[in-house]
Amino acid sequence: MKLATKLIHAGVEPDPTTGAIMTPIYQTSTYVQAGPGDNKGYEYARSQNPTRKALEDALAIIENGKYGLCFSSGVAATDAVIKLLQPGDEVIAGNDLYGGTYRLFTKVFEKFGIKFHFIDMQEPENIKTFINKNTKLIWVETPTNPLINIIDIAAVAAIAKQQGILTCVDNTFASPYLQNPLDFGIDIVLHSATKYLGGHSDVIHGCIVLNDADLREKLYFIQKSCGAVPGPQDCFLVLRGLKTLHVRLERHCSNGEKIANFLRSHPKVAKVYWCGFTDHPGYAVAKKQMRGFGGMMSFELKNQSMEETKRVLSSTKVFSLAESLGGVESLINHPATMTHASIPREERIKNGLSDSLIRLSVGIEDVDDLIEDLKQAIG
Ligand SMILES: *Cc1c(COP(=O)(O)O)cnc(C)c1O
Repeated sequence: MKLATKLIHAGVEPDPTTGAIMTPIYQTSTYVQAGPGDNKGYEYARSQNPTRKALEDALAIIENGKYGLCFSSGVAATDAVIKLLQPGDEVIAGNDLYGGTYRLFTKVFEKFGIKFHFIDMQEPENIKTFINKNTKLIWVETPTNPLINIIDIAAVAAIAKQQGILTCVDNTFASPYLQNPLDFGIDIVLHSATKYLGGHSDVIHGCIVLNDADLREKLYFIQKSCGAVPGPQDCFLVLRGLKTLHVRLERHCSNGEKIANFLRSHPKVAKVYWCGFTDHPGYAVAKKQMRGFGGMMSFELKNQSMEETKRVLSSTKVFSLAESLGGVESLINHPATMTHASIPREERIKNGLSDSLIRLSVGIEDVDDLIEDLKQAIG
């Protein structure tokens, strides 16, 4: 079955009691048993919920995996993956990461004795330098946030497999429409479903998809023991969002391409970070592992003063100044003070994330209106 059909039909069946075509929101905390232990596979809603199960099954199929697990947010999903580790274990992660992931790793998990190395993974061989006997996990985001660098997923998976190290790709930026990391040998794929999967900026939700049954048991144990589960209403919203992922992403990609080209030709713009440019350093790898280049991009003005950067950020009328991404509406964001404020300035600058970087999440409005808006804002 092709992705567009899977997005609409995977995991969902007409409701057995009424035939309702949409999966009902099973708003319940517990399930009545005929006798002790005599139940229909549902005991208590932290452990199982039918709306959540429909979504977990759908996500597994869409990401070409066997098992899906849903969490109350993207960071809750990340939290669950790191809880597979023990004190003394080490993680190698990219150096251009979602700020909340960096914060969770450094401010929460470092104090439990887990060590994180944040490195440039654009040259995958670089990873080998940091591998030792304690290395248990390699954490990848690609395209990276907010610099839109591309990491070679198959190359990372091959290095990790050789050494028996677990791999996780945060696939939030690409979405399953553009990229399926499990196909390249990655162990766990993770999403903040808050973004493209939900797609309408109306829900906070996270998920992971994987193939290995033992690993699924461990993560399911963490999910129910730690309890960061989503409610059924949130699962319903993500299920509904999935059904239009392909049509939305087609438009995100075509709008993205036009806006990236518009910005690049603008006399007041110094640099545009978008992986669809043929001279982007990761273009060949992006071509190999992605089906399109998406609507996420960043840029810097020639006038890099804080004043001018802030003026542009506050001048758009169609683009809303807000954190988050991946919704139908276009957003503009200042990583240094918003999404990536939790990364120390020194660390940010070292990795190329300047104070004047502006990030766009290009939505699916009419692209002419978006271009007009940027034109009047940049001036
Ligand atoms: C937003 C985001 C997260 C965190 O997800 P939440 O749903 O906000 O908890 C993780 N990774 C990436 C790449 C994100 O953009």
